[in-house]
Amino acid sequence: MTNAKYESLVTQIKICVQCDLSKTRKQAVPGEGSLNSKIMFIGEAPGASEDAEGKPFVGPAGKVLNEMLQSIGLTREQVYITNIVKCRPPNNRDPNPQEIDRCWKYLEEQMSIIDPEIIVTLGRHSLGNFFPGELISRVRGKPRRWKNRTIFPVYHPAATLHNPRLRPALQEDFQNISSLISNFNSDIDAKTSKDQEDLQLSLEFNTNHTSTPKEPSDTQQKVSKNIKQQRLI
Ligand code: SF4
Repeated sequence: MTNAKYESLVTQIKICVQCDLSKTRKQAVPGEGSLNSKIMFIGEAPGASEDAEGKPFVGPAGKVLNEMLQSIGLTREQVYITNIVKCRPPNNRDPNPQEIDRCWKYLEEQMSIIDPEIIVTLGRHSLGNFFPGELISRVRGKPRRWKNRTIFPVYHPAATLHNPRLRPALQEDFQNISSLISNFNSDIDAKTSKDQEDLQLSLEFNTNHTSTPKEPSDTQQKVSKNIKQQRLI
């Protein structure tokens, strides 16, 4: 899908020099995936492989993320993947508060364009930007609301490379992401079906109570438009 607003945002990120990370990066890593997806994965910052390729999660951690997505029947192309900051911090240090602050507007714009229902935060640093002070080990795998969206915290895929004992927890959390998606899609299907029934009844009522068939009213047209609910994936 092409989206002029999105393309313009990507261009802005690629030439951005609003923090010192621009001085050491090879290239900025805006993010990639489906703009139609209602699920967004957000890590902390690009690493060496991402910096070299200009794509998010393409190194060893990306391989784990791909495996996790595959385990629940998803591909990278079906979701949207990005980071809190778009440029690699030197030696993979944590981005500092000023860098995060300068870069946050780009993430906000991405969230506004893609409008995800579910945001999966990858790792404690990403989580901390939505819920400061929360412990990833305490809240991982527990969905919670944030500005009309569902935030679903999970361990960073790289953490399972350093500590393989965390992998089962990551696998379990991805299974729960799959359940969240199924529940959301079921709700959308039920609402779509109910709206279609209501519209049909309304149109039949019109036909039965007028001598000449009437055009659908504004309300009916609005309902008809809204029936095209968007499923998560
Ligand atoms: S990290 Fe963000 S704010 Fe800093 S230079 Fe890169 S795109 Fe700009």
